Amino acid sequence: MKSVIAICVLALLAAAPARAQSDPDWSAPVAPFRIAGNVYYVGTKGIAAYLIAANKQVILLDVGLEQNAPLVEPNIRSLGFKLSDIKIILNSHAHFDHAGGIARLKRDTGAAFYASPGDRWALEHGTHDGETTYPRGHFPPVLVDHVLKDGENVALGGVRMTATFTPGHTRGCTTWSTQVIEPGRVLNVVFPCSLSVAGNRLVGNKRYPDIVRDYERSFDRVGAMKADIVLSNHPDIADVLGREARARAGQTSAFVDPKLLGRIVADSRSAFAAELKKQTMRRRR
Ligand code: ZN
Repeated sequence: MKSVIAICVLALLAAAPARAQSDPDWSAPVAPFRIAGNVYYVGTKGIAAYLIAANKQVILLDVGLEQNAPLVEPNIRSLGFKLSDIKIILNSHAHFDHAGGIARLKRDTGAAFYASPGDRWALEHGTHDGETTYPRGHFPPVLVDHVLKDGENVALGGVRMTATFTPGHTRGCTTWSTQVIEPGRVLNVVFPCSLSVAGNRLVGNKRYPDIVRDYERSFDRVGAMKADIVLSNHPDIADVLGREARARAGQTSAFVDPKLLGRIVADSRSAFAAELKKQTMRRRR
């Protein structure tokens, strides 16, 4: 498992820009499913979108690529929700593969869009904020209705989603967390924001000079969180779809893995250190 995660993180690190426009998994349809409690998966094979329901009021976390919106919308409906049930849309981070479909979902649902101050500029301009080693992707810009504070609880009905700012991957990368009730117990669910370097310029990034410090703090911050269930922005990082298959085959608690977040952080931290070393050496040459 550890090596699978390491491969995923490294693959994302090395190949995200190149595969960004081309990975067919990113827009491959997946039937929606319940993960635990009131948390559902409505994304595609390669990019997550999560729905957190409070009766008939719903929070949506991420949509995916712009072209994923027409897949996510029927997924929401097939779970028995109306698009107008979505009251709040949240975002993990302002990259085209996670925020690209938000403008359309906001229009089609009438929901309010909440985002961190660090990602506001990128979301409202539809592009990455900061220097990268690859051409920046563009996506439909989306107006932020409410600017979050670090640690803010977003409440809807009986549901609460907590924002923890974990910048680096983007300036406003936000790790979300909530609690779900499964028979007999309360489970902590964490949606960690991506921790991969993914083409970010770590050395001499004039637009984002604090990027290295931010990554290092975010590794500590996410690493200190307690997660019974980890739900990643790209489902392969936490094997979300594999766990669903095992749950469907009868394995109880297939999503519960209290050590997973620590492993993801450790693997991301070492991939980051290797990339920082490489970029530092390249700059010295
Ligand atoms: Zn990203």
